[in-house]
Amino acid sequence: MSLLEIKDATLKFGGVVAVNNLSLSVNEGEVYAIVGPNGAGKSTVFNLISRFYQPFSGSFTFEGQNLLDRAADQVADLGIARTFQNIELFDHATVLQNLLVGRHRHRKTSLVEELLFAPRVRREEMAHRAAVEEVIDFLDLQPYRNKMIAGLPYGVRKVVELGRALASGPRLLLLDEPASGLSVEETQDMRWWIDDIRKQMGITVLMVEHDMGLVSSVCDRVLALADGAKLAEGTPAQVQASPAVIEAYLGA
Ligand code: ADP
Ligand code: MG
Repeated sequence: MSLLEIKDATLKFGGVVAVNNLSLSVNEGEVYAIVGPNGAGKSTVFNLISRFYQPFSGSFTFEGQNLLDRAADQVADLGIARTFQNIELFDHATVLQNLLVGRHRHRKTSLVEELLFAPRVRREEMAHRAAVEEVIDFLDLQPYRNKMIAGLPYGVRKVVELGRALASGPRLLLLDEPASGLSVEETQDMRWWIDDIRKQMGITVLMVEHDMGLVSSVCDRVLALADGAKLAEGTPAQVQASPAVIEAYLGA
């Protein structure tokens, strides 16, 4: 069953067609990758799904609901979480605090209740903490939980960025280049986590990634994008063997 459905999406920036009549659908429970050279439009697709950008044309549905009716913060409420190609964390807050921000969408209590510190607030606070502690355990972030983001190595910040998205308890996780800048060992960890996110947590993953080794090992389906348009789609092996893809990469 398809969870996310994009049909005939187009977006231009001035003279640049960043996304060109693109259609794709991501099935519930799969790991789906978008690959392509720099400037192909991969991050723009994420920005369209998360409603940071308004498409010129096309339809975007999540579980049959029209995403174009929603603002960016409401997309998060539907259960879509994302990471950013350039890590976006609060540098002067701790790992724990950043992950608690990821829980924001679940807050149901009112300001008055929070001021009075009603029992409901305490219960909710405990639920948030428990969810965040689970993410900290899952991603082996215990040694860093009370450390400031600014002082952490890049590889750890990349994991916290994943944690922030996971903490919101999404149905669909959008990962923009989860392995970029990571060492071979860190990339291997990322690979296990993506696998477990799908298999143990049952979260559907849509990712953009350059590392074809990672893509081949964790993804069910791949879409190759060039100049905003679909070049090929299929299993990682099918896409890598596609003449259009080989030509685009060799010709580049
Ligand atoms: P990718 O993630 O595949 O490297 P992007 O989606 O970031 O590519 O960019 C696709 C194209 O759209 C590029 O030509 C880029 O310069 C352009 N682009 C992306 N975002 C903007 C923007 N906010 N304003 C103008 N041009 C943009
Ligand atoms: Mg990008």
